[in-house]
Amino acid sequence: MAEATLEDKDLITCSICLDLLKDPVTTACGHSYCMGCIKDCWDQDDLKGVYSCPLCRQTFTPRPKNTLLAELVEN
Ligand SMILES: [Zn+2]
Ligand SMILES: [Zn+2]
Repeated sequence: MAEATLEDKDLITCSICLDLLKDPVTTACGHSYCMGCIKDCWDQDDLKGVYSCPLCRQTFTPRPKNTLLAELVEN
């Protein structure tokens, strides 16, 4: 992976675990999280049936499907 510049740091850091993104996924609002982090978050939101971005609180219904996630599941 290429080295990130300081400007890129916010883009490659997950707001949930505050670590570098692992298996990054980008939500419809443009925020990026580790696939595992946002999946855990949305698993909890399953109870409510409304899924939200932990950073900007934008809500998504139904639960967003992620092409990256689908690809990884296939492999
Ligand atoms: Zn994370
Ligand atoms: Zn967001």
